[in-house]
Amino acid sequence: MSGEELRKRFETAFMPNYGVPPVVLARGEGCRVWDAGGREYLDLIAGIAVSSLGHGHPALVEAVSAQVATLAHTSNLFLHEPEVLLAERLRELLGGDGRVFFANSGTEANECALKLAIKYGGQNGRTYFVAAENGFHGRTMGALSLTGKASIREPFGPFALDVRFVPYGDAAALEAAVDENCAAVFLEPAQGEAGVVPPPEGYFTAAREICDATGALFVADEIQSAIGRTGTWFAFQHENAKPDILSLAKGLGGGLPIGACIAFGPHGDLFAKGDHGSTFGGNPVSAAAALAVLDTIEADGLLANAAAVGEILAEGLDGIDHPLLAGVRGRGLWRAAVLTGPHAAAVETAARAAGFLVNALQPDALRIAPPLVLTAEQARSFTGAFPAILDAAQNGREG
Ligand SMILES: *Cc1c(COP(=O)(O)O)cnc(C)c1O
Repeated sequence: MSGEELRKRFETAFMPNYGVPPVVLARGEGCRVWDAGGREYLDLIAGIAVSSLGHGHPALVEAVSAQVATLAHTSNLFLHEPEVLLAERLRELLGGDGRVFFANSGTEANECALKLAIKYGGQNGRTYFVAAENGFHGRTMGALSLTGKASIREPFGPFALDVRFVPYGDAAALEAAVDENCAAVFLEPAQGEAGVVPPPEGYFTAAREICDATGALFVADEIQSAIGRTGTWFAFQHENAKPDILSLAKGLGGGLPIGACIAFGPHGDLFAKGDHGSTFGGNPVSAAAALAVLDTIEADGLLANAAAVGEILAEGLDGIDHPLLAGVRGRGLWRAAVLTGPHAAAVETAARAAGFLVNALQPDALRIAPPLVLTAEQARSFTGAFPAILDAAQNGREG
């Protein structure tokens, strides 16, 4: 079917929440994807920081194919080897402790974190939650109530939870907002959906200290930032500010849906039997995929690759002098090209015309979150083409 026909049929068959995406993707290989008309693109989005190994990675293909042929689903009435191996592997990466719950998505990982925090609050007379303005934690009602971006949250309120929002990156404001009645603080290590906005150095450490001083749980939403995206397994490791609860999803399954919530110390025992569950959570195929992702990141040195190629990307963008480009934010292979005005949509379109998929994340910010296997040469091909892309966007042409 042609791309044009698919888009027309999509528009009729689907709810209008996504709009109609501009490109129909037909296949991928490594960091390259092809659309329905056979045009090739360099994928610098990776399905929103998800396809960590790129497309069609042999390790992922083999793990998923073997598992789906052996046993695709058990429910949680039965256990299976891949989920145990994966939980143990995550614990190992996190210093040997923590107890794990597997979900199917980011928002569900946060629902688990939130239910733990509600239980903790109930046991200790703690009644409110703190999260950051402009933060993003997901679209289900609990995670949505923590989501700081008003345009996403407010149409669906009021919410049952008392959530207080503080300006992100302001440790003094956080300290003022958190007291002995606060059940938990939810923060991203850098705000992803807000435009890949890192906090000032030391903010996560300050948050850890504020939670230690007041007894509030520190919940790190690492759904976008973890599994190598910033050059370390987890972004909190840059400050060594280990949370009480950690949520993961996006890059963990390399394209297969999986989320994880990990709680440390006594918080790992907050749920009693029957308190939470998921029919699909931790299913064998997603667990096998995640194991392949973690093994490949380790075996192929992809943490170091994300750090090194991320620097090449940032330096390349930094070196461009153009009236549309203000600078670059972020870490590792998690970057935003910051524009001087609301040009992101035009730049995204011009980049696509030039054969690069990037994401107009904010009116003035372009997200670059490629597979962790991106090569230096591929990064340079993008930064080399970017001045002409910016010119094309400025001139209202399409490449
Ligand atoms: C993407 C994201 C979520 C939501 O994940 P879904 O899988 O879309 O539900 C939550 N928090 C952060 C930080 C995210 O980037």
